[in-house]
Amino acid sequence: MIKNNNFLEIPNINSKDANFKELIYEVDDSLFNAYNNSKKDFEHLCVCSGGTTSSCAKDGFTTLDLRKNYSNIHLDRESNLVKIGGGVIMGDLINYLQKHNRSFPIGLSKLPGAGYILTGGVSPLSRSYGLAIDNIESIKGFLGNGSFISLKNNQINPEKQLIWEAIKGAAAFFSIITEIELKTIQSNPIKVIEGFVNLNELSEIIKLSEEFPENISLQWIYAQKIYIYVFAELKNNLEDKRTEEYLMLLDKFPTLEKNFYKNFNNINFFPKELNLYKMNSNNHSEVISLLGEDLKNDIPIFINCLNEIMNNKPNNSCYVASQQLGCKTKKSNHGSSFFVHRKSTWKPWIYASWKKNDLQEKEVAMDWIYKSWSNLKRFYPNIHLAQLHNHLNSHKEELSLAFGGRMNELKTLKNIFDPQCILPPL
Ligand SMILES: Cc1cc2nc3c(=O)[nH]c(=O)nc-3n(C[C@H](O)[C@H](O)[C@H](O)COP(=O)(O)OP(=O)(O)OC[C@H]3O[C@@H](n4cnc5c(N)ncnc54)[C@H](O)[C@@H]3O)c2cc1C
Repeated sequence: MIKNNNFLEIPNINSKDANFKELIYEVDDSLFNAYNNSKKDFEHLCVCSGGTTSSCAKDGFTTLDLRKNYSNIHLDRESNLVKIGGGVIMGDLINYLQKHNRSFPIGLSKLPGAGYILTGGVSPLSRSYGLAIDNIESIKGFLGNGSFISLKNNQINPEKQLIWEAIKGAAAFFSIITEIELKTIQSNPIKVIEGFVNLNELSEIIKLSEEFPENISLQWIYAQKIYIYVFAELKNNLEDKRTEEYLMLLDKFPTLEKNFYKNFNNINFFPKELNLYKMNSNNHSEVISLLGEDLKNDIPIFINCLNEIMNNKPNNSCYVASQQLGCKTKKSNHGSSFFVHRKSTWKPWIYASWKKNDLQEKEVAMDWIYKSWSNLKRFYPNIHLAQLHNHLNSHKEELSLAFGGRMNELKTLKNIFDPQCILPPL
């Protein structure tokens, strides 16, 4: 992206390097007419919130950067509901909430913006509090046809019901969300058991984790080495006793250490040694996120498959990782949404990276991501559409594996509410 005085740094390097056509900061109904008259047929508006994906800015496309004018955060102390702008990043949200001893189930990084919430939002706390979308109380924004929308949970009239459900998981295809109201949670201390393990130990830990109660979750990452995080929220003395019993099962792994954190904000996931989330400015990357259920008896064959994938990785920047959901994310009492694979208990993701401008290395890395995805499909058949990939060949398949039986409803919404295809295409 070209830098100018009004420009805010974009964390994703692909997007940062894009030669965008125009940068806009304000969304109102006039934007839609003006943009529609100037856009070419194939073009769509790129929307940037946290700017952590490869689709928030593209060569020759206009970007609407919500970070400048939609970054307000306000907590109502009575209801403990927080209103955030559509351009708020998750780190700012939980830092703000911490001042009031509140928190929110953000993901493994503080960098992502509202895209984290609108695409589902899988947190180490999700097993206790549901996905980020399950905590949405109301939204305001614009549909692709320029009309303003304001929707509140439990006050949705029947003709708006489908829009409300689709905003929770598929908003990016037909709307621009400028304000989100969220439930917040009490900020509690966290115990984390973490360290490097070998493949056999990972296998044993996955087995143990599939029996974890809802306040404990496992996240692991296999880069050059394997690092695990067992994350336990400490809530009250009675539950903490049970938590300790589960955590004691990990005492037999000599490389793991226990850390105590006063709150979620103090945790930085994945050790500096792995050098993962510090975006390398010389590299471009893509990520595909999968969804599946407990591995149970398949753990040994999964571990073999993972080993083979990692033996074939094209360079040391590529990795596979996974986070655990389940328990509350399986419950349907949050209301229907477009995160349809509610049975899922694992969300692995495959990350491929290459030297930017090296098209040959890109081809090899993308080939690895697709082959790895294909090998992992037997364990994780579905997709978590956390990143929009309309610039990749896998886009159609990812859409159908993410939205399943609701794909036709999404197409209908797109036709009605974004008929000129101003927003990213399906
Ligand atoms: C380091 C890192 C760690 C992550 N960890 C997790 C995790 O633990 N759990 C998890 O679920 N995901 C995780 N993600 C994935 C991340 O949540 C998604 O990729 C998310 O889409 C990023 O949102 P963003 O706002 O930062 O990105 P952006 O690139 O700004 O936006 C992504 C897309 O979302 C759409 N969008 C964003 N904001 C709006 C809006 N207000 N209205 C309409 N459309 C909008 C845009 O179309 C855009 O193309 C992680 C990503 C990174 C980089």
